[in-house]
Amino acid sequence: MAAKLDFLSLLTGCFATPVAENPTVVMVEAAYRAMGLDARYINCDVAPADLGDAVRGARAMGWRGFNCSLPHKVAVIDFIDELAPSAEIIGAVNCVINDDGRLIGENTDGKGFLASLREVVDPKGKHVVVLGAGGASRAVAVETALAGAASITIVNRDAARGKAVVQLVAANTAADTLFVPWTGDYAIPPDTDVLINATSIGLFPGVDDRPAVDFASIRPGMVVADVIPNPPHTAFLKAAEARGARTLDGLGMLVNQGVVGIRLWTGREPDAKVMRGALEAVFAG
Ligand code: NDP
Repeated sequence: MAAKLDFLSLLTGCFATPVAENPTVVMVEAAYRAMGLDARYINCDVAPADLGDAVRGARAMGWRGFNCSLPHKVAVIDFIDELAPSAEIIGAVNCVINDDGRLIGENTDGKGFLASLREVVDPKGKHVVVLGAGGASRAVAVETALAGAASITIVNRDAARGKAVVQLVAANTAADTLFVPWTGDYAIPPDTDVLINATSIGLFPGVDDRPAVDFASIRPGMVVADVIPNPPHTAFLKAAEARGARTLDGLGMLVNQGVVGIRLWTGREPDAKVMRGALEAVFAG
């Protein structure tokens, strides 16, 4: 007897502009292949004025979900049905799940970071310092505070942006909060357990740049993390390692947010090692 034919792939992808250089497709499709899934991930260059049509199109075509990257992470909220709790607090969505026609917005940036952090330390009761106050900082600060961090200190040049992240964390979590204006080399407070670079400093091609901190104030054993995925081994992490810190790279965060997305879309567990290997090959090339 002939086998039942099924040529309908599970469809996922990314809506952003520009999107051509976004490598998430490489790691997600590597994961799908390793899982033996007939699933695709397609980068779509979507202009801001077309975002509503793109989301309606994805719904009409039965897409299982999609990532949203810049500039759509906030605007997409107008076109979906529901927000998951941390996406609601962060006020941004980078992953949409189509649950039987109902589009649910998640934020997997912070969750990806948290999964990486938990491989090294449980943030519960820890004192956390976050450099920067943009989208990555909001996601990382909110998710780490929801995981039970004792305190979150935001260090940023622009005081209004820094205070906005502090207010967000204070209003929605039990963590103590503090804003510190970033002037000169920031000395890390001695009771800091986890220090995170959530600025864009160090991203390719600015690979020799590193955040202005007093590296002598980094204690041995402190956990120091970077959100920068490319290059994975940033000048910031190298300097922290030289002080005896335990470090976490931004590639791990990127892989883990992909793991969370695939889990939400397929209900299955992808192989993080396959995904990291695929991305490392891209960045090495
Ligand atoms: P934003 O542009 O929203 O924020 C950038 C932040 O960096 C701001 O707080 C800005 O400070 C600060 N900053 C930039 N340059 C300097 C400088 N020279 N000195 C001090 N502060 C500086 O960016 P995002 O938050 O969206 O992204 C930040 C980085 O996070 C990106 O490089 C991105 O690659 C990475 N990222 C990584 C992810 C991963 O999975 N690994 C996921 C998401 C993002 P100010 O407010 O004072 O201007």
